[in-house]
Amino acid sequence: MISKITDTTVLNNGVHMPWLGFGVWKMEDGDQVISSVKAALAAGYRSIDTAAIYGNEAGVGQAIRESGIPREELFITTKVWNAEQGYESTLKAFEESRRKLGLDYLDLYLIHWPGKDKYKDTWKALGKLAQDGLTRAIGVSNFKEHHLESLLADSDIVPAVNQVEFHPRLAQKSLQAYCKQKGIQLEAWSPLMQGKLLDEPTLIELAAKYEKSVSQIILRWDLQSGVVTIPKSANEQRIKDNADIFNFELQAEDIAAIDALNQEQRIGPDPDVFLF
Ligand code: NDP
Repeated sequence: MISKITDTTVLNNGVHMPWLGFGVWKMEDGDQVISSVKAALAAGYRSIDTAAIYGNEAGVGQAIRESGIPREELFITTKVWNAEQGYESTLKAFEESRRKLGLDYLDLYLIHWPGKDKYKDTWKALGKLAQDGLTRAIGVSNFKEHHLESLLADSDIVPAVNQVEFHPRLAQKSLQAYCKQKGIQLEAWSPLMQGKLLDEPTLIELAAKYEKSVSQIILRWDLQSGVVTIPKSANEQRIKDNADIFNFELQAEDIAAIDALNQEQRIGPDPDVFLF
C-alpha cells in the first residue's frame, strides 16, 4: 500500500519517482509559481512537473532554492517543447531549461508531444543527455501505442515514463496495459479533469463514504491504479488537501465503480491531431 507522500515507484532504470507530484501548468512565473511551489514543498510534495512552454521554470528554480530542501530529495521534471524537437535543437532547449531552473541535473526530461516526424531524433538527444548524466531518467508525453511502437523499433532505450491525460473519464485502458507490459510508468496529467468532476454523483458518494473530498478520491484511485499523479493547484489549502491521500485505501468495489466512469473522453487535444 502506498502510505506516505515520499513513497516512490521504481522506474525501468532503477530511479525512484514519487507517486505524487505537483503540476504547475498555467501558473505565472514570479510570485504565483514561487509561492505555490513553496507551499507544495512545505506540504511534503517532493516532485514538481514543469515544462519549457509553461514559461515558469525560473520561478520553479527559485522556489526550490529558497525552500532549502536538499536537491537529492527532489524529483524535477521538465519537457522539450514541440518547436524545439530535433537532435541539436533539443540539446539546446535542455540547456536553456537547466539554466532557467538553475539545476545541475534534471530527474526526468520528457518529449512534450510526439508531433509528426521528429520524435526519433529528439529521443536520440534525450538518450545523449541521460548518458551524460544530465538527466536521471528520460521519457515521453502524449505518446499513443503507435508512437511508442515506432520509437521502440528505432531505439533500445525504453522510455521510463509516459505522461498522458488520465482521469476517471479517460482511463486509457489499452495504453495503460501496453505501458505496463513494456515497463513504462504511466503518469496522469489533468488528473482532476481540471476540476470538471467535482459534481459527479458516484465520486460524491465515495467522498461521503470515505470522508474525503472528490479530488482526494480521484487522486487515491490514481495511486491504486499504479499511475503517478501530478495535480495542480495555486491555492494553499487545496495544495495540502491534494496531498492528504495517504491515510486511506479504496476498496476494490469502489475502484471498480470509478473505473466504470470511463468514457475515453478527452479534454485536451488528441496527440494524433496535435501536429506542428
Ligand atoms: P488538474 O486536473 O490538476 O486540475 C487543476 C484545476 O483543478 C485547477 O483549476 C485547480 O484550481 C483545480 N483544483 C485543484 N485541486 C482542487 C481541489 N482539491 N478541489 C477543487 N478544485 C481543485 O489540471 P492540470 O491541467 O493543471 O493538470 C495537472 C498538471 O499536469 C499540470 O499542471 C501540468 O504540470 C501537467 N500537464 C501536462 C500536460 C502535457 O501535455 N504533458 C498537459 C496538461 C497538464 P486552483 O488552482 O484554483 O486550486
